[in-house]
Amino acid sequence: MRSAREIWEVALGELELQVNKPNFNTWLAKTTGLTRRENRITISTPNAFVAEYLDTNQRSLIEKTLINVTGASLEVVFEVVSARQPASPAAKNQPPRQGRSAFNPRYTFDSFIVGGSNRMAHAATLSSTKGSGGGYNPLFIHGGVGLGKTHLLMATGRLAQANGLKVLYVSGEQFTNDFIRSVREKQTEEFRTRYRSLDLLLVDDIQFIGGKRQTEECFFHTFNELHQRNSQIVLSGDCPPKGLPLLEDRLRSRFVWGLSVAIQPPELKTRLAILKARAEEAKADIPAAVLGIIARKAKRSIRELEGSLNRVVAYARILQAPITAALAHRALADIGGPAGQNEPTPMGQVVDAVGDSFKITAADIIGRRRDKETALARQVAMYLVKQRNSCSLSDIGREMGGRSPATVSHAYEKISRDIENSAHLRRKITEIKKGLNSSSRAASPK
Ligand code: ADP
Ligand code: MG
Repeated sequence: MRSAREIWEVALGELELQVNKPNFNTWLAKTTGLTRRENRITISTPNAFVAEYLDTNQRSLIEKTLINVTGASLEVVFEVVSARQPASPAAKNQPPRQGRSAFNPRYTFDSFIVGGSNRMAHAATLSSTKGSGGGYNPLFIHGGVGLGKTHLLMATGRLAQANGLKVLYVSGEQFTNDFIRSVREKQTEEFRTRYRSLDLLLVDDIQFIGGKRQTEECFFHTFNELHQRNSQIVLSGDCPPKGLPLLEDRLRSRFVWGLSVAIQPPELKTRLAILKARAEEAKADIPAAVLGIIARKAKRSIRELEGSLNRVVAYARILQAPITAALAHRALADIGGPAGQNEPTPMGQVVDAVGDSFKITAADIIGRRRDKETALARQVAMYLVKQRNSCSLSDIGREMGGRSPATVSHAYEKISRDIENSAHLRRKITEIKKGLNSSSRAASPK
């Protein structure tokens, strides 16, 4: 039962936790496991560009992940499998379409579990499906990765469309590309007409337009026209409007005209409800105790929760064993720390890697300097050490220059939170982890 497809599904669940979201979407989301023969696994990619990127940049992370998943060291081969309908060069240049197909069919209001962490966001988006800017305009939904923003925006778009509204859902990235293309092809008028004739515009991950002056300006005008027409605008971002990296302050000020609502990481009750729904959907018979284990472990986001559930199910399938608490513990043993299974990373190595990344010395990290940058580096180091080792808070504190367990715990909590809100910090930590993963791999006697 260890088909390449199954193995790769579990590996993707893991990889999704390890690389940042844009990277995952760009490079990994459209890959599948094709075949496995002996120690070689072939992964299909949608095009040569992706194959080459994965081959040169992600090979070691992927191979390491596969070792975690299968317990065996596999050689990975990337193979281009052309899509059923090869996209013509012209098709690639098409502006975003309004078709229903733009929406992920899984993302509906019905399948969205409401809890304290997302109740406001749910209610606000639901009310915006009637269009006409009757309620709050714009509606700005913000929160960390994997908390349900895209789900809500797509559910909104789909329902509004069913209500007969003229809807366009785009990501900040698509908006940017669409705008650039219209300028290049001298079709800015057509671009304007297309956007300003909408009843509802949804822009997901609006932070993407930040720092691109012309795109920001274009969005500013689009926004104003829609707003004046009383068309509803719904935006999502990875942080509140005031934290967006925008060049145009007037754009930021527009974003707070309406209502901004945060989506928080889900509480235990919501996590359990989501797991239950997912298990039912998958027709998987999973004991309540196991759902509890997963829900308690995967706290950061719903994406992580889903990844963990998939992992447990796939583990059972691969081992052809029933889903028990013991199996769940085993399957989730290294979640949250991509270091090799139960293989701690020496603290010194973590401190060095963090020092390299922040361009400060290891001595400063464990020393007494209190400037902002050093303090942050120190917290990141404690966070990573705790994540990658099973030693106690007081052990970590002692090694990190004689700090109290409470300081370590505070650092861990703080960085866990900050990662959700800062794409910059997230990237930085991902890079450090990548470095640690590849060096611990080089050092392991395989
Ligand atoms: P974001 O856009 O905030 O990064 P997504 O909308 O992509 O997050 O959500 C990540 C995953 O979690 C998706 O599979 C989504 O369907 C699921 N999800 C998020 N929130 C909920 C919820 N409240 N109920 C059910 N599934 C959810
Ligand atoms: Mg999203």
